[in-house]
Amino acid sequence: MRDPQRARERMVETHIAARGVRDRAVLDAMATVPRERFVEPGMEEFAYEDSPLPIGAGQTISQPYIVALMIEAAGIATGDRVLEVGAGSGYAAAVMSRIADRVHAVERHASLAEAAQRRFDALGYRNIELRTGDGSRGWPEVAPFDAILVAAGAPEPPRALREQLALGGRLVVPVGDDVAGQRLRRITRVADDDYDEEDLGGVRFVPLIGEQGWAEDGSRAA
Ligand code: SAM
Repeated sequence: MRDPQRARERMVETHIAARGVRDRAVLDAMATVPRERFVEPGMEEFAYEDSPLPIGAGQTISQPYIVALMIEAAGIATGDRVLEVGAGSGYAAAVMSRIADRVHAVERHASLAEAAQRRFDALGYRNIELRTGDGSRGWPEVAPFDAILVAAGAPEPPRALREQLALGGRLVVPVGDDVAGQRLRRITRVADDDYDEEDLGGVRFVPLIGEQGWAEDGSRAA
């Protein structure tokens, strides 16, 4: 790729800002993080197209527009503590780390988590803490969070994630009965035991596999 900076700026203009994402911090962060470093070797030339790409272990790095849309929807701002469930390549966590104070991220595939950690180290992104495990249970030891993003589709918004929101915190999660398509929902904790829910439109994510997601065979986990 001859000019990655130019390719990033073009991606932000044509695929993200033109489609309605307005949050300046999100647009700036997307124009900063080198997405070509988060794709598989040989796929760099496709890094700035608006599409998901394979990252190994049968998983994908999400489409840039969807990453921007979810981060904007979660209202992530300076000073925030954020949790990402489904870190995959680490790209979305890297973008959020350029805006928030601290990003905690969980990925169930150790091979993907290790590759993501190597990328964070190489790029000097030191405010991201990543672990391998089942993120459908959240990360209770470091909760509460101002924002939680789930990058995989769940049958229901995981109860553990709602409970790990700070007051005023936002959970953005794809939800649906059909593993092939979901509705993106934003759930805001307005009081201790009171949550507002909004529908943000249709999306298509790989399934959230875990205790508060789907079982490996595609049925609902207990
Ligand atoms: N945000 C990622 C990125 O920027 O590359 C893309 C994520 S990919 C669409 C969804 C990821 O969620 C996959 O890597 C998958 O292994 C992971 N995942 C699924 N269920 C999970 C769970 N219970 N806990 C943690 N990660 C999970």
